[in-house]
Amino acid sequence: MDFRLSEEHQALRDSVRDFAREVVAPVIAEHYEQHTFPYEVIRQMGKMGLFGLPFAEQYGGMGGDYFALCLALEELARVDSSVAITLEAAVSLGAMPIYRFGTEEQKARWLPKLLSGEALAGFGLTEPGTGSDAGGTETRAVLDGDEWVINGSKAFITNSGTDITALVTVTAVTGTRPDGAKELSTIIVPSGTPGFIVAPGYSKVGWTASDTHELTFDDCRVPAENLLGERGRGFAQFLRILDEGRIAIAALAVGLAQGCVDESIKYARERHAFGQPIGTYQAIQFKVADMEMKAHTARLAYYDAAARMLAGEPFKRQAAIAKLHASTIAVDNAREATQIHGGYGFMNEYPVARFWRDSKILEIGEGTSEVQRMIIARDLGM
Ligand SMILES: Cc1cc2nc3c(=O)[nH]c(=O)nc-3n(C[C@H](O)[C@H](O)[C@H](O)COP(=O)(O)OP(=O)(O)OC[C@H]3O[C@@H](n4cnc5c(N)ncnc54)[C@H](O)[C@@H]3O)c2cc1C
Repeated sequence: MDFRLSEEHQALRDSVRDFAREVVAPVIAEHYEQHTFPYEVIRQMGKMGLFGLPFAEQYGGMGGDYFALCLALEELARVDSSVAITLEAAVSLGAMPIYRFGTEEQKARWLPKLLSGEALAGFGLTEPGTGSDAGGTETRAVLDGDEWVINGSKAFITNSGTDITALVTVTAVTGTRPDGAKELSTIIVPSGTPGFIVAPGYSKVGWTASDTHELTFDDCRVPAENLLGERGRGFAQFLRILDEGRIAIAALAVGLAQGCVDESIKYARERHAFGQPIGTYQAIQFKVADMEMKAHTARLAYYDAAARMLAGEPFKRQAAIAKLHASTIAVDNAREATQIHGGYGFMNEYPVARFWRDSKILEIGEGTSEVQRMIIARDLGM
């Protein structure tokens, strides 16, 4: 039992920490305020190799592991979550399905540019009428000769409409199973395909410097070979992708929770009330102590889930626990950090205001807290 980081993991964590402080922090508030995508920051993250972290070198990856990705996400989110979710979605939702399930041709065509950060991919599962209940998917794909014809729409798809988005993988109903259930498959739709329509970006409460769109597919035709993996395996594929992704979101949530501690300590030292720094009052110290306790225990939860995953052991329950706990405490810490900042905490120019706005989605995206509880209870045999 050893939770200390290897030298490689430590070096990665330190370099991403420096990058977040020196490159992301000075520019992100402006992007957040203007709702603009930080292309230059993303370009530099690509140059650092962050988009290739958990992938084999033969496809242009860094030959690292999924835990390395989690460490990078934690350090980025400690400063800003829009940048962190862009990386999370690009790697664990965008490139990973192709890496895990794609043919050698698909990998050779798409992975080098996705892993270098030169291009981004989205993962289209959620629809306007169904999210948690992904079995309710209504988007359809029909094989017409050597082409899939796709009709339907997807909601809230991250990284789907940037200038560098190369493709979206879309889950669609491709038939009916012998038991009458829907047959779901996953299909790669390259950006710019006629009939693939990207709506203008949403007006969001948080993650405002990240890219999120509703997508429509109107007789959108792609070659039959764009099927990802086997026909009918769509359900199993996205369950695997989401199980892993929960560890990544937990890491991102821990980063936000730790960023709240950082900012609170800084502010509590500077701000005076009743003749003393507010940090000298035990009421403030106890808030910070509780915030640190929560960030620490949530970190252990995602380290444990990642360790099990890398050891090839079952990790579904632990990933759900990590995601549920980390997102809950991220919201707690953001609320308390804002409280410590008083009125300034309600001003967008303070990082804690961004943390507060960014925290809520962590209890919703990649499986709501209710869904995590369902997964945990089911895994306990209930
Ligand atoms: C900014 C942003 C980015 C996103 N990025 C992506 C992306 O890249 N790709 C993608 O596919 N999706 C993406 N999503 C979608 C996200 O994963 C869904 O919003 C989420 O899974 C919840 O689905 P829903 O919004 O349809 O809510 P619903 O499923 O309609 O749930 C509504 C409420 O009902 C609860 N509920 C539902 N079923 C049950 C039940 N059986 N028992 C108890 N409670 C239940 C839920 O927990 C929730 O509280 C994104 C969302 C946002 C906001």
